[in-house]
Amino acid sequence: MSAEDEFDVVVIGGGPGGYATALYGAAAGLSIAIVERDKVGGTCLHRGCIPAKEFLETAAVHRTVEGSKEFGVGVSGISLDFGVSQDRKVAVVDKLWKGLTGLLKGRKIETFSGTGMLLPGQQVQVLDGEDAGRVLAARNVVLASGSVPQLLPGFDVDGRWVMTSDEFLDLRKLPASVVVIGGGVVGCEFASLLADLGTKVTILEAMEQILPGCDDDIVRVVVRAFKKRGIDIVTGAKVESHTPSADGTVTTVKAGDQSWDVEAIVVSVGRRPRTEGLVADGVGVQIDRRGFVATDEYQRTGVDGVWAVGDIVAGAPQLAHVGFAEGIVVVKGILGEPVVPVDYTKVPWAIYCHPEVAFCGMTEAQAKAAGYEVVTKKDPFGGNSRAQIIGDTEGVVKIVAEKRADGTAGRILGVHMCGPWVTEQLSGGYLAVNWEAFAEEVAQFIQPHPSLSENFGETMLALTGRGMHLA
Ligand SMILES: Cc1cc2nc3c(=O)[nH]c(=O)nc-3n(C[C@H](O)[C@H](O)[C@H](O)COP(=O)(O)OP(=O)(O)OC[C@H]3O[C@@H](n4cnc5c(N)ncnc54)[C@H](O)[C@@H]3O)c2cc1C
Repeated sequence: MSAEDEFDVVVIGGGPGGYATALYGAAAGLSIAIVERDKVGGTCLHRGCIPAKEFLETAAVHRTVEGSKEFGVGVSGISLDFGVSQDRKVAVVDKLWKGLTGLLKGRKIETFSGTGMLLPGQQVQVLDGEDAGRVLAARNVVLASGSVPQLLPGFDVDGRWVMTSDEFLDLRKLPASVVVIGGGVVGCEFASLLADLGTKVTILEAMEQILPGCDDDIVRVVVRAFKKRGIDIVTGAKVESHTPSADGTVTTVKAGDQSWDVEAIVVSVGRRPRTEGLVADGVGVQIDRRGFVATDEYQRTGVDGVWAVGDIVAGAPQLAHVGFAEGIVVVKGILGEPVVPVDYTKVPWAIYCHPEVAFCGMTEAQAKAAGYEVVTKKDPFGGNSRAQIIGDTEGVVKIVAEKRADGTAGRILGVHMCGPWVTEQLSGGYLAVNWEAFAEEVAQFIQPHPSLSENFGETMLALTGRGMHLA
């Protein structure tokens, strides 16, 4: 078989990991092709980050309108037409997709349509689709095939009772009652927006708390806020099955000796890598039992010229921006430039439920488990002037610092935020954690007033032992 086209880099999969590699590589002067079986943009643009945030924005607008009386703004007859929100989502996604398609073209990145398979000798065959049969030769191949929702035995996705995030994000009408199985990031975002829009929600979580991986103080705030909004949270729940009623109105979800009658079930128990058929036999890329691709910290698979990025990488957080960062690492590696690998323990996390959560670095429990003695400070948003002005005071900023021998706060280990627009406020915390800054170094930086970010500044001041408002 001879290759028809030759590129510096062929990327299999045009999601965030793949398109970031392509754009950064093209900016560095490399010739790049993407093989994409569906639409460039991947899960993030079409079935993940963007559609979910679009619906969360509908929920935020609804909350604002419901609370408008407090500001003297009268509104009567609040109604919800979720079909309009769905149409708006489609329009936003479409616009971003066209923008991305144009950007790729503009950078002379060739996109081939079909399912790509890596063959020996850095060749990629397009197996189906418009470009079926094409074989692309590359000096480097980047595997970026992403992930799909993890399914759960006893809960077959049927489009009627049981949905994953894929089906949920296509709804035009919301069910009146929902069980969300899994209280992780996606489950909590969906539960939050459903509750805001009038659906009765129960979260069933197998672990002892929702949002595993988040700092306990942040989880406490989210749990309190969710319960206040009528969301039931059942932890330690081992779901078994569901049985639709004879009259077809509800289905009964069973977990141990408890059960719930609901109109729909959303399964959000994680995502599995989509690597079946991605690599031909004998190529030597190591794919583990669960389908994840093994790489070193430079995203190398161990096969010369074959790299992997994004949700398929073993041990990496499944986040779009992690895929972006890994793409940059790959391109620098290809160019032989100095490169700093992505430190997965220090990437920023964002959860867009209400109240919003954003964090970076170690939780207090993780720091202690790693052997650190720590100093922590917490500044609740209740005392923040901007939070009071906007009428959204639920939440807290918590910073975890290493304790020095003299008992004072030293290096910043983790920054954890929950409250209004915290995903937009995390960048200072991200820099502090990744620069391994000391509390007194960060504390000297000024925050604008009045602003939500003053809590970050005040918490840092408190860590130096001289908080103005916070002891
Ligand atoms: C509901 C939801 C909300 C989310 N919200 C956020 C968020 O707010 N922030 C965040 O950072 N992350 C979020 N994520 C996670 C984020 O979407 C993923 O981490 C990200 O999309 C992974 O990028 P990727 O490039 O690895 O894979 P994907 O985005 O899955 O893209 C892979 C692409 O490869 C294509 N493909 C697969 N196999 C082949 C093949 N053999 N040949 C050709 N093409 C192939 C697929 O069609 C797809 O387009 C969310 C996910 C979900 C489900």
